[in-house]
Amino acid sequence: MAIERIGVIGAGQMGTGIAHVLALAGYDVVLDDVNKDALGKALERIEKNMQRQAAKGAIKEDLIAPALKRIRTTQALDDLKDRDLVIEAATEDEAVKKKIFQDLCPRLSDKAIVATNTSSISVTRLAASTDRPEHFIGLHFMNPVPVMQLVEVIRGIATNDTTFQAALEIVKKTGKTAAYAEDIPAFIVNRILLPMINEAVYTLYEGVGNVDAIDTAMRLGANHPMGPLQLADFIGLDTCLSVMQVLYEGLADSKYRPCPLLVKYVEAGWLGRKTGRGFYDYRGEHPVPTR
Ligand code: NAD
Repeated sequence: MAIERIGVIGAGQMGTGIAHVLALAGYDVVLDDVNKDALGKALERIEKNMQRQAAKGAIKEDLIAPALKRIRTTQALDDLKDRDLVIEAATEDEAVKKKIFQDLCPRLSDKAIVATNTSSISVTRLAASTDRPEHFIGLHFMNPVPVMQLVEVIRGIATNDTTFQAALEIVKKTGKTAAYAEDIPAFIVNRILLPMINEAVYTLYEGVGNVDAIDTAMRLGANHPMGPLQLADFIGLDTCLSVMQVLYEGLADSKYRPCPLLVKYVEAGWLGRKTGRGFYDYRGEHPVPTR
């Protein structure tokens, strides 16, 4: 099945990046969000990020205007009804995602594919809540989408070969590399990465080191490009907590218990970069550790 028209639901960090790379790859994109401000900001961010890519020589300047023209925004799911594929990249909350699929699927053609960008929720379970489990797949882009090369492709138990091949084709057309992951909680990257971040928060919680020491140690001692707490702020602490909860509940192993300090930051609404404060305070000129 040839995919030309794609819908993206959720214009947050991920949906914005996904719309960006799809438009550059030549797809016609409709970006949906319940929040009008998020849509306005998404378009601004996409243009700015494309210009940044052009300045670095990663893309040609003359690709920007046609790519931007290929993106429309909407707050109405009805505007997605002619889409060949819809990628859901809304908040990491199972109830929110299931409600979206419930409202979306009856509007789509029978052949349309639905994908989720979930970081951790079972693709099979989400698929089972729709009218098309065989046309449902996990397409897990990494953050920031325009920069990161990997997309994890996750089949649910019912996903058919046509859907899988169509997903691989999209990954290829965006110039990225697919890694096939089984539908086991958090897949590959987050199964390994999030417990490391959670352990970094425990290290902070137990006073082994402060924010600066922990991040410096992992940057210089393990050669990571970013410290784990800096990375947590970048991902969003609510997303980090949600992935740990899914691992803890899904694998029933106490080694995945979320650190109480991570819970506390989320309860405070200190979610990282997107709210201006997390393990660092971003409201000034330079990030300042909050512990
Ligand atoms: P975000 O909080 O930046 O954005 C979520 C967006 O979804 C918000 O703009 C919100 O208004 C919108 N939304 C909520 N309910 C909606 C609805 N019913 N209809 C339409 N839009 C709705 O979150 P994010 O970081 O972009 O994450 C989105 C998804 O991508 C999550 O499933 C997350 O697990 C996954 N993901 C995140 C990362 C990361 O590093 N942040 C990486 C890979 C995958």
